Amino acid sequence: MYQSFDNYTQWRIIDVMRKVKCLYLITLIVGLLSSCTYTASNMTHGGFYIAGIDFVYCTSEKTCLHETAHQIDARHGFISSSIEYQIAIRDYAVSNPGKLWSREILSYSGQWSEMYAQMYESVHGRVELFPVELQKYY
Ligand SMILES: [Zn+2]
Repeated sequence: MYQSFDNYTQWRIIDVMRKVKCLYLITLIVGLLSSCTYTASNMTHGGFYIAGIDFVYCTSEKTCLHETAHQIDARHGFISSSIEYQIAIRDYAVSNPGKLWSREILSYSGQWSEMYAQMYESVHGRVELFPVELQKYY
């Protein structure tokens, strides 16, 4: 059975399809942006990382190191958010009072991804300078 539409009906169908496509694109963009908000929350200090597209933006050596750490974290499946990492880092701090980062770790109340990035930043990306038990997380 062949059904033919008059020109006006054809135009209406095309118009509706155009609107549906447009709504779809808007939904996609809003979805993408909202999923980036969490990982792109560090724009205040001159850089950010967008996990969804594995993209680093940075404006200085310091911010490049920092955002690269977020990239490494994401590539390890956001290891800094894992219980394993959080236990390991606290164990290190408790077992090594007075050593590098111990006091900061024990009093830290922010997001662990930030501590992860700050630690990487502070050794200028030289993972071999980390305590041995924490090196595997980078
Ligand atoms: Zn950060």
